[in-house]
Amino acid sequence: MNHAAFAEDALIVQRINKKPRGKQSIMWTTTFIDINGQCKEQKMVFGNNYPDSDMKGKPKGIKKMLEERKLWKTELNLDCKKCKKKKDLGRIDCCLKKIMASQPDFVSQKSTIVELIKGAAKKYAKNYCDYTLTGLQKIVLQALELIDIIIIRKMG
Ligand SMILES: [Zn+2]
Repeated sequence: MNHAAFAEDALIVQRINKKPRGKQSIMWTTTFIDINGQCKEQKMVFGNNYPDSDMKGKPKGIKKMLEERKLWKTELNLDCKKCKKKKDLGRIDCCLKKIMASQPDFVSQKSTIVELIKGAAKKYAKNYCDYTLTGLQKIVLQALELIDIIIIRKMG
């Protein structure tokens, strides 16, 4: 796997902490559609006008990000067993990470990464494997599993 394919500042929900500060990479400024249908910019770090000067330039936690999007739900946990076990993939509001990951900007980020991997897998298949569809599908699946492993390693 080519680790350089994953931008340090990509929007990846596994990289977000519940609370601000902590070990978390700084993600790029993004946009989201608010409840009135307006496209709004969201910075992933606290700006210079933030009242607590200690927090300036520090990464926002998932709570702050969701509050700004009016999606924060106090009763939910950061993640849940179903998500950890990758069960019931259709849910979008079981836990905070899932809500964030279901936001269009995060979804499109993930699909960009998947496209990158598919491209790399195709190349790999052409060079090293019999270029059959099943062979290719297998490699893509393996590559997708690698995404999670790489993200977990980066967090650790
Ligand atoms: Zn969940």
